[in-house]
Amino acid sequence: MRFEISKVLDAIEGRVCVDPSLVRAVVDLAEIIRYADLDGGRPASMLRLGITIDALGRQLEEDGVQVYAVVHRGVLSDGDLTSNERMVVRRWADDGLVEVLNNPTERVLEVADLLGLPVLSRQRFDGMRGRYPWVAEGPGRLLAPISGPNGPTLKARFGNDYPTAIGPSPAGAKVLARLWRCPEPGCALFGSGGGGAFADLARVERKPAAQAPPSLRTGTPTCPRHDHRLTDGGPRPRVEVLAVRIGGQVRQRFVVSPDQPVIVGRAPEQPEGIRLGQWLNDEARRWISRNHVRFELRGNELVAQDVSTNGSGVRPGGSMAETERVPLGNQQSRVLASKDFVELYPGVQVGRAAGLASGGGFNPSSVMAEAPTMAMRLPKQI
Ligand SMILES: [Zn+2]
Repeated sequence: MRFEISKVLDAIEGRVCVDPSLVRAVVDLAEIIRYADLDGGRPASMLRLGITIDALGRQLEEDGVQVYAVVHRGVLSDGDLTSNERMVVRRWADDGLVEVLNNPTERVLEVADLLGLPVLSRQRFDGMRGRYPWVAEGPGRLLAPISGPNGPTLKARFGNDYPTAIGPSPAGAKVLARLWRCPEPGCALFGSGGGGAFADLARVERKPAAQAPPSLRTGTPTCPRHDHRLTDGGPRPRVEVLAVRIGGQVRQRFVVSPDQPVIVGRAPEQPEGIRLGQWLNDEARRWISRNHVRFELRGNELVAQDVSTNGSGVRPGGSMAETERVPLGNQQSRVLASKDFVELYPGVQVGRAAGLASGGGFNPSSVMAEAPTMAMRLPKQI
């Protein structure tokens, strides 16, 4: 059993980050892990984070959704968690995948406010409505993870139950235009990235464009972990958020930044590459090369270059008319307009996330699926 739990935690690890371009909701981890009625299990369980992420994915009709987790320091010594679970949270904190704070409640709302994201919580935040009116009035901005007739679901405090992102606030956009540096040595959130004797040992490479939003609680950009005033580290690189849609279903989002082209294929050698193999049928797997399309930002342009054996096609403006399809092969490149996407094989598409929604008949896969024995203990609807 321990082995399966570890595998689930590994899978969940891929769904927590602080990258403003990728996260889809904000959670207070200390709270989420205690929603015992979601699975009827122990008083505290990290698996409930996975259950909640699954519910978010179902409601957004996307696989692979990521959340921004803010963690009360007490979780690191919470005796209701297993030592393995506590160790995992500590690792996430050290790697800068989550924020560990003494008082996370306000930070949860601040991050959601700066990034314009929904909060997944059962709290009402009544005392915070003055500063954050959307907790009471924002449609789809505050959603409670609850048990439903069809499995765990998200119930909005106001408006319909679709987790609604409205994009960064003016203050958020301003602060996200820059990179920030914390004077605390080894700060996992606002560290220098390259410095430190143990920089080579960091498990997670810190990408500048993926840096968390600073706290503005004091009026100036501040490290939420160390309370130090941050210094300006220069402009934040511009990024494009792309999505992989297979069979009408969005499977994964990823970021292309100027210093990081991304290769999409069956099984790219590039560590940051997007591996499609797991989602492909035999024919698609035979057609699609290990490295198939390379996406790169050149200035303000998103460029797709075919690096495959069999070639790709571009669908201009998202049009599925065969007469408009532009073949792409033999190392050819093409600048992608806002709604263009690349088709690697019929039904296997990559383009800007904003233009690629899941089609009808969404059939989600679960972050918990790594561990069948664990999943079976959850309500059978999962
Ligand atoms: Zn810091």
